[in-house]
Amino acid sequence: MSLSYVSTRGKAPTLAFADVLLEGLATDGGLYVPEQWPALSTATATGTPTRSANPPPGQTYVDIATEVMWPFVNGQIDREAFEQLTAEAYSTFDHPDVAPLVPLDEDGGLWLMELFHGPTLAFKDIALQLVGRLFDYELARRGERVTIVGATSGDTGSAAIEACRDRDSLDIFVLHPRGRVSEVQRRQMTTVPSANVHNIALDGSFDDCQDLVKAMFADEAFRGRHRLAAVNSINFARVMAQIVYYVVAARALAGSDADRPVGFAVPTGNFGNVYAGYAAHRMGLDVSQFVVGSNVNDILTRFFDSARLEIRQVMPTMSPSMDIQVSSNLERLLFELNGRDGAATAALLDGFRAAGEAELPPGPAAGLAPLWSGARVDEAQTLEVIGDTYDRTGMMIDPHTAVGVGAAAAARRDPEVPLVVLATAHPAKFPDAVAQACGRRPALPERLADLGERPERCVELDNDLVAVQRFVAAHTRVGGDR
Ligand SMILES: *Cc1c(COP(=O)(O)O)cnc(C)c1O
Repeated sequence: MSLSYVSTRGKAPTLAFADVLLEGLATDGGLYVPEQWPALSTATATGTPTRSANPPPGQTYVDIATEVMWPFVNGQIDREAFEQLTAEAYSTFDHPDVAPLVPLDEDGGLWLMELFHGPTLAFKDIALQLVGRLFDYELARRGERVTIVGATSGDTGSAAIEACRDRDSLDIFVLHPRGRVSEVQRRQMTTVPSANVHNIALDGSFDDCQDLVKAMFADEAFRGRHRLAAVNSINFARVMAQIVYYVVAARALAGSDADRPVGFAVPTGNFGNVYAGYAAHRMGLDVSQFVVGSNVNDILTRFFDSARLEIRQVMPTMSPSMDIQVSSNLERLLFELNGRDGAATAALLDGFRAAGEAELPPGPAAGLAPLWSGARVDEAQTLEVIGDTYDRTGMMIDPHTAVGVGAAAAARRDPEVPLVVLATAHPAKFPDAVAQACGRRPALPERLADLGERPERCVELDNDLVAVQRFVAAHTRVGGDR
């Protein structure tokens, strides 16, 4: 029997995994979540946080990934095919452990889990390398094709392009604001030579890019003709793939003591990463604390302090993937805090949209304090953390990761419980901030060393819906003009 998925707003039809994968957003505007949380296997699992060349049987990253994700997809995909897609997805990573744990201090209390060894050097690869393959598999099975359209301020675009490149059932169009993404980020998108990849440098801001993508989806004739689809962070399949590394970290640190709790500190933007940790917790993982790290765009810090959501202007920072005011995946946590009451969740979010502020009632708000804390790390503190980490350990960390490390230091509750900070980007992805703090420039991994010399492919377009639609129609293989 397949697991059913329900909408956080309670009014959309219940779907099975394959439809949730391809649909993304629910028809009532909500997000899909499993009808109940599957339980993690309780088999005592041992591992070591060292770089072991011979992990215990059943305990490689791919083994744990298959075990943890299987209940979510069971009945929707053949077991052998799923194992193969998972193995392929993580074979693209540079590190044999996929997501290695490295110590941040001497007494084994504070750890860094490096999630940035994938093709584009940010944690989004962990989900998207699998989700691109799942899309392709399901579309091939149905004999269908789609056109993926997305907007990016940097990291998501390259991760989505790497996930979709050369896949028969997909064409991908990514809009980025011209001149407003870093050179490394732009080149990671524009130097991919695949025929099904199309980069659009838009004469406008990131918000303009996002508005155009929304407008294309809202144009029902256009959307239907070209079968538009998205691989954005509200897709439950992305959450599912991210649950895995929380389990991997906890098992490695527990050693033979399967009951040992662990805490996580997560630099957060859209709340997708840390929400996956919460999902692992609901599946039975013993997590004592989640520290939600924010830069000066600190709506979440204020929320975890006061149970109030209050929107403010977005400010640009050196951790741009966290320059967000409305974290879409927070809706999934609000749904749980509301006792899975879709109508109450819809009312809260509608009120927030309309007024720019909302307050969680006292009952649901009582669920926050035991597990959650928020911490804000400003720009000066971010540089200080990067510099201090380099001085103490010789390791360079990127500004997003630094927000996680700074938040961990500020909000950690129990020094006896190991705390894992999730490292979300490779330092060479944000070399200017790192060089400013460390006095040395981080180097790109070998395979990307010549990124600066590779030929770029990108079209420049005006901030004009008709021009962008014309370009997409002329270049997609789905219902296109050719
Ligand atoms: C996307 C991203 C984040 C934020 O992750 P969310 O899931 O949106 O909370 C943090 N750091 C980096 C480097 C990212 O690319």
